[in-house]
Formats: sequence, structure tokens, C-alpha cells
Amino acid sequence: MTATDPVAHPPDPQLIDACVHCGFCLSTCPSYRVLGTEMDSPRGRIYLMDAINEGRVQLAEAVQHFDSCLGCLACVTTCPSGVEYDKLIAATRVQVQRHYQRPVGDRLLRWFIFQTLPYPQRLRALLWPLWLYQKLGLANLEKQLGLLKRLLPKSLAAMYQMLPSFR
Ligand code: SF4
Ligand code: SF4
Repeated sequence: MTATDPVAHPPDPQLIDACVHCGFCLSTCPSYRVLGTEMDSPRGRIYLMDAINEGRVQLAEAVQHFDSCLGCLACVTTCPSGVEYDKLIAATRVQVQRHYQRPVGDRLLRWFIFQTLPYPQRLRALLWPLWLYQKLGLANLEKQLGLLKRLLPKSLAAMYQMLPSFR
């Protein structure tokens, strides 16, 4: 995929070039602060966008770094060069959607999220099995055994930790 590919619609190279790699944005980026890797910072992601446009990096190799961006846009207000990261990451996410085939587990999880979170009634319906799960003491048992934590994929285990408690 190159910048000249008419089907690709890459992030605008002019917006990418506005980044002078000063690194001011790093201290305000939550994903960089937690993960501590350059490619999970705004500067690193902008570098990746450029590298993908020029064919030096494959989109599939960079997807995890775009996924780790929270879209909070703290970097936009910090950037002294006025880099429009919001437009860049928006274009990149569409690229990922268009050109990257996610693993089956990822697709299922995303399908589940899109089928439940936007719909309050469906979410409410899901509370019943959760209520029963907790009332029967299974949640306490799980707390002691920690089975789900070990068996579930990381993303699901993290979601499990955030379930509301009825007690
Ligand atoms: S996005 Fe802005 S603050 Fe961050 S490295 Fe580029 S120019 Fe510097
Ligand atoms: S929008 Fe993404 S890159 Fe910018 S500060 Fe938030 S997490 Fe970091």
C-alpha cells in the first residue's frame, strides 16, 4: 500500500509532516505513560503512519499500537506545532478497518461490544445472569480460585474485573 494508491486513502502526508518529533506530547499521553514504548506514543504512531504510507512498515505490524490509542486527544492540546492528530488517527482507524483482518476472537469480542454497549435494554437483560452469578456465590468462588483470570483472554479478563457488584 502506498500514498499514491487511490483505494488506500492513507492519513494525509501533509498532516504527518507537521510533526517535528519534539516529544512534548509524550508526557500527556496515557498510553505512553502506561506502556512506556515509543510506538504507543503520539510521536511513535505518527512515525508509523508515515512508514506505512511509504511502505516501510506493514499495517498489520502496527495495528496494536493504533489500538492502544485511547483517542483522548490530550496530545492535540499539548502539541506546540499544532499537529492534527485527531484527523490522523481517525483516518488510520478507517485504514485498519478497511485493510486489516482481525483474528476471530477479536472480531467476536468487537461484535459483542457493538451489539450490547449501545443498547441499554440489551445491557439490562445481561444484568440478570450476572445477578444470579453473584447471588449463587460463584463470583466469590471465582475470587478464590482465580480461574477466569487465568483462562480468559486478557481483554475479557480486564472486562470481567470491571463488572458491577450487586452487594
Ligand atoms: S505530535 Fe506535536 S508534540 Fe508530539 S512529537 Fe509531534 S510535534 Fe512534537
Ligand atoms: S489520543 Fe492517543 S496518542 Fe493522543 S494522548 Fe490520547 S492516547 Fe495518546
